[in-house]
Amino acid sequence: MPQKTKQTPMMAQYQKLKDQYPDAFLFFRLGDFYELFNDDARKAAQILEITLTSRNKNAEDPIPMCGVPYHSSQAYIKVLIEHGYKVAIAEQMEDPKSAKGMVARDVIQVITPGTYMSEEVGNQANNFILAIRAVEEAYVLAYADVGTGELKVTQVTDFEAVKTEFMQLNANELLLDQSLSQEEITALENLHTFTLSRSKSQSSDQTYGDILANIDSPVERDCLIFLISYINSMQGQAIDHWQEAAHYEVSHYLHMDYFAKQNLELTQSVRTGKKSASLLAFLNQTETAMGQRLLKQWLDRPLIAEDDINNRYDQVQDLINHYFNRMEIKENLHGVYDLERLVAKVAMGTVNPRELNQLKNSLMRLPAILEQIKELPSEHWNALLNQVVEVPDLVALIDGALNEDSKATLKDGDVIKDGFNEQLDAYRDAMRNGRQWLASLQAQEREKTGIKSLKIGFNKVFGYYIEVSKANLHLLEEGRYDRKQTLTNAERFITPELKEMEAKILEAEERSLALEYELFTQVRLEVKEAQSQLQSIAQAIAAIDVLQSFAEISENQQFVRPSLSMQKRVINVVDSRHPVVEGVIGKENFVPNSIIMDEDTSILMITGPNMSGKSTYMRQLALIVIMAQMGCFVPAQSAELPIFDRIFTRIGAADNLLAGQSTFMVEMMEANQALQHASDYSLLLFDELGRGTSTYDGIALAQAILEYLHDHYHAKTLFSTHYHELVDLEDKLQGLRNVHVGASEEDGHLVFLHKIFAGATDRSYGIHVAELAGLPHSLIQNAQSILSALEAQEGARGQSQQLSLFDTSQANSYAASTTEIDVLDKLRQLDTDDLSPKEAFKLLDTLIEEL
Ligand code: ADP
Repeated sequence: MPQKTKQTPMMAQYQKLKDQYPDAFLFFRLGDFYELFNDDARKAAQILEITLTSRNKNAEDPIPMCGVPYHSSQAYIKVLIEHGYKVAIAEQMEDPKSAKGMVARDVIQVITPGTYMSEEVGNQANNFILAIRAVEEAYVLAYADVGTGELKVTQVTDFEAVKTEFMQLNANELLLDQSLSQEEITALENLHTFTLSRSKSQSSDQTYGDILANIDSPVERDCLIFLISYINSMQGQAIDHWQEAAHYEVSHYLHMDYFAKQNLELTQSVRTGKKSASLLAFLNQTETAMGQRLLKQWLDRPLIAEDDINNRYDQVQDLINHYFNRMEIKENLHGVYDLERLVAKVAMGTVNPRELNQLKNSLMRLPAILEQIKELPSEHWNALLNQVVEVPDLVALIDGALNEDSKATLKDGDVIKDGFNEQLDAYRDAMRNGRQWLASLQAQEREKTGIKSLKIGFNKVFGYYIEVSKANLHLLEEGRYDRKQTLTNAERFITPELKEMEAKILEAEERSLALEYELFTQVRLEVKEAQSQLQSIAQAIAAIDVLQSFAEISENQQFVRPSLSMQKRVINVVDSRHPVVEGVIGKENFVPNSIIMDEDTSILMITGPNMSGKSTYMRQLALIVIMAQMGCFVPAQSAELPIFDRIFTRIGAADNLLAGQSTFMVEMMEANQALQHASDYSLLLFDELGRGTSTYDGIALAQAILEYLHDHYHAKTLFSTHYHELVDLEDKLQGLRNVHVGASEEDGHLVFLHKIFAGATDRSYGIHVAELAGLPHSLIQNAQSILSALEAQEGARGQSQQLSLFDTSQANSYAASTTEIDVLDKLRQLDTDDLSPKEAFKLLDTLIEEL
């Protein structure tokens, strides 16, 4: 066995820190580098594509090592975070020059996917960290975006709702204590990947008072404190740009579970995963990052309160009516940077001069935007306007202090304007004078020595010097110049007076830089004072941006203002379109369809061949409802809609196969979700339910589900099916109406009309197609009679299967008559010449049994 090399003190120090942060990459500061060792080094070298070396290469057991330069470390950290890892930053805690013995090091910050604030501002998506705790009979969810200071909290009673929120927030990091079961955690892990963090719950603390002012529930406060303390401990400093935490109630918004959102392709396409083919991308005409984030939030949580929705319509209508105001608003919004994130950076102290100027330039747009809004009917805008406190002093402050073209860093100076601070002006004068003095010194020396090429230069090692080419050296006065550096063709000298001036200039430079830094910090702190005003300005700007986006799309796409009602459960949407499909295939190719369900119709049964547009029709309604409840106008000639509380979907295309579950199981689970949670105010979409099982099972279940829905709810249900057997339900279920998607023949070809007509589709549809294809007439006739026989048979078997599976008492009367018909049919079709007496008896026995 080779002897293990004894651990050096530095590696011992490293190991001690690493042991405290086993689940993070430890960035260990050594001079100008962050070094990583052992497994961290191996893994990081691979992910970051940097060279893996080793410490003490010649030892028996060299330690794997890799490193990244301190100055470019942000880019590397970003990559690790984006891969879902955590990074612990261990800094030198004292100046290595003055340290006795080993430099003390400690972890000052842990960067995690959910607490990461990227250097760039203007991210269009929120980065949420979500804390979940199970308390007695409920789950508390608190989430935060460190980049914007947003804090929200809610409680839900069932775990399904936890899953929905979890998926919706798309949190990169999940913070848990011990209260969630492993089973529950696994269920979340099956939904999407995230970084799991654990922390212990904290006891309440006074210091959070302001942030928690609006939160009454003790468990919600606890959960927020749990989350905030964790974030503070990761950041290594207390975040003080939190907005006031807000409680929200899941039931105050149109509820869609994750699968519904996915199926309806709200934020990305199911098949391709592309974001561009989604409702969000379609609706997005926002100009700012804040607007874009808010649009996504409104899409995630459409409203239910009629007044609130109507208020948004009024605002959208105003912006449509006042085109020039809108254009002016739009143009000014275009110049507004991501205020929320800028404010966060101001608060964290990471804002740079260029960003502070961006903040100023954004604020300078504010009066123009407000002026335009004030010209709109005030009753619709007062609430929003009240949110905005103008901050002219802040603009003046930044404008007075900072040069317009300041660079992103402070280290080269020239950030603070001349005239802002007397002392700084004095330093700058000294620097300028010094340079002038140098220029005149050069002129004097040239004259004195007669060397025309003599020049005064500067380098970091020797400072200012006088340079004379070798050929001219003899012209210099002996003893007056001190030789400092020899080059191939020239010598460099200094003189005492030059050194004296150099000291003055350098001191002025150094002091001026330090002073600029100090002044900049003062400006930043003054801006920070206005943090909460700036945050509410940001929120108002975001809302204005989303509303102008609604107005823009509504006008361009000829959308119409819906009329909504909670009480009147009528759908009357005339000539509606599917916004996204229409966008893809072109307006001229899309066939508008009306969707009409009066108060007594609760189920619309849609039949039609494959690819005829059934699914599009159903989704169209859901999207229109969602848009309507977001406060946007909708793609139709006119639209009367009830307000819905929930949307459930069972849509085939996106069968999301959870581990080990069959398509059919997923279908049934989604159906069950709907049956369990639907109310009279819900919208249900069932696309080809029962496809995942045998025909009879499928028909039986589909029918039983329809009957159940029909008898228990007045929810509006759209049900597409290719089971013709089901269309007969119209006779039985009062609230069910048939519609079908038409097709026609043109020049012997089958043409999908994509048009919805009343009534059920033609049963012999397939045979009709065969006829169009030119199959022999006698064959077609034979197919017709086979079809009738099969249909009669299937009908009977379908019924009997259903009877055995479901409520017999209810379906008896219905089944009896069709069975009789069926038996009669069979008798009629019987060819007695072909039967032996024994066979005839057997047949009679089965027929009697069927009756
Ligand atoms: P189904 O559900 O009946 O199988 P889909 O709804 O998936 O059919 O529609 C199939 C295709 O038909 C769609 O991809 C779309 O291109 C086209 N389509 C659907 N509805 C319309 C319509 N109203 N106007 C024009 N094309 C349509």
